[in-house]
This record gives sequence, structure tokens and C-alpha cells, in this order.
Amino acid sequence: MRFTNWIGVALFCAAGTAAAEVPNVAADIAPVRALVARVMDGVGTPDQVLPANASPHGYSMRPSEAAILEKADLVFWVGPELAPWMGKAVSELASDAVVISLLHQGGGLELQLRTGEAFAEHDHGDDDHGHDEDHHDDDRHDEHQDDHHDADHSHEGEVIDPHAWLDPENGKAWLDVIAENLAGADPENASAYRANARAGQEEIDAAIADVEALLAPVRGVPFVVFHDAYQYFETRFGISAKGSIALGDAADPGPRRVAAIRDLVRGAGVTCVFSEPQFNPKLVRTVTEGSDVGTAVIDPMGAGLAENMGFYPDLIRNIGIAMSGCLGGES
Ligand SMILES: [Zn+2]
Repeated sequence: MRFTNWIGVALFCAAGTAAAEVPNVAADIAPVRALVARVMDGVGTPDQVLPANASPHGYSMRPSEAAILEKADLVFWVGPELAPWMGKAVSELASDAVVISLLHQGGGLELQLRTGEAFAEHDHGDDDHGHDEDHHDDDRHDEHQDDHHDADHSHEGEVIDPHAWLDPENGKAWLDVIAENLAGADPENASAYRANARAGQEEIDAAIADVEALLAPVRGVPFVVFHDAYQYFETRFGISAKGSIALGDAADPGPRRVAAIRDLVRGAGVTCVFSEPQFNPKLVRTVTEGSDVGTAVIDPMGAGLAENMGFYPDLIRNIGIAMSGCLGGES
């Protein structure tokens, strides 16, 4: 009798322990979810807080998305610079979780937001979009930037550009960060996490090589982007946008802004204007009207990609394909 009881307890414990070992993991945006999913391949599946087609800069969570944070043991997110609204949600809903802001892990490429007339600054998802248009023409961006920033933000003039996942070397570094944090939370599967991270890094290296080959012949061809999200990608691959149409991330630009960019497109001999799936395509048409400038859609969030293990390298590769196609003249 005693013997059978002992077996029963042992089995119960073994099953209980095994189930508890794989942590519940939440990620903010699709590219981060994809990196976490790559590391957890064969062990578990992370959940994603933001829908793929939403702009991370300003968003209201649905109850199902809040529930993802509530049950999370670990939260991987880019950081408050990308989604200022999410900091409060994470601290309130995921108060017991290990929270990792990938932007603040160090070691990777970290860039300041670009400033100046051609780019202006992001408004970080602030609801008060009217400011962008009101203050745009007075050349005093720094002053109005002040009003927009909450306590999470760095000092004026030192605001980190949050679109850091668009440097694939950062993606590779983040795979290690993700693997080490998962290994800490779930030592049993540590070697699987680390092996997956290494395999993921090799897959990203292949995408980097592809994009380098794609962009080599079109380096120096001038282009404009919809919103200033590509600095990391540009820096990594040695290309550079002449400007961005949108002043902020979550706001549509006003007529004066569109006119200024239309002038920039003509004056700078811009060859391509790149739009994004989550933004208004009409604005791109307005900017390119009456010129033979090409357009293409680039997808920084992977809104059009299937949720498989190749998601992140495909996201990087697809930006290279869209850019090289348009800059090379097939618009
Ligand atoms: Zn953005």
C-alpha cells in the first residue's frame, strides 16, 4: 500500500513540476514575439500583446491582451520609447513577472532619434497629435518635444530611437538576451533555448548576406520613408533616407507637412517613397503626385508575414527586397 502511494505521489510531483517549468512568456510586438518563439522552439510558445497591424506607438489593449500580461512569468518588450502606454500596463498587470526591455540591454546598436526638418521627431503615440501640425513650421521642434515626453523618456535631445529590431545585429543580440533570461527562469530547458538562439542567429546571418547583396547596387539612390523607423536598418546596410513623411509615429501629417515633403522629393531627386501597411497610402500618392517617383510598401512589423520560425529573418529580407526593387527602378 505504502509503495503504491509513494509511486502516486512521485508521479504527481513529476507531472506537476514539468508543467510548471515552461514559463508563460509575453512579447510586445510581432518581431519580438518571433525572436522569443525562435528561442522557445520545441519547448513552448510565447503570446503577443499587440496585434500585428497596430502601431505600437499608441494603442489601447483589449481584455484578452491584458490577460496575456496578467499570466506572464516573463515579459519581453522593446521598451517605453516604443510603447509608452505599455509601461504602466506591464507594472500593474505583470507585477510578478520578470520584465526585460530589450532596448536597454546594452551591447547592441543604439541610435538617437533623428531631428531636423526632414525628419522631425516622433510624438511617441501621444494623443495630442494636433501639436505636430501647430508647431511644425516654427522650427522649434525641441521645445514642443518637451511637452510630449513622459517620465519614461530620456532627456531631450537624447531620445533613443526605439525601432532597434530593424538592425538584424540587434535581433541576433536579443536572441542571446532572450535565451539567457529563459534559461534563468527554466533551467531544465536552458540548453534548448541556447541552441535555438544560435540557430536563429545563423538564420539572421543568411538574411543579412541576402540584403547586403540586394542593396549593394542601389546604395546612394535617394529615398523617403513614411515614418522615421529605418535608421537602424539604414545604418546597418549603409543607406540613408532623405526624410520621412510623418512627423510622428501615430499621427497623419497635415497638408503643410505633405507639401514640404513633396518639395523635398523633387528637390533631392528622390527615386522612391516607401509606405507601410498600417499607414494611409493616399498620403504617399499625394507626395509623389505629378512626378515619376516610384513607391513600394515596406513592412517593419511583419504585418503581412506568417507566424513561423522564419518570421524575423523574412522581415529583414523583405525590407531589402522591397527597397532594392524600387530603388533599382522596378516600381
Ligand atoms: Zn515607429
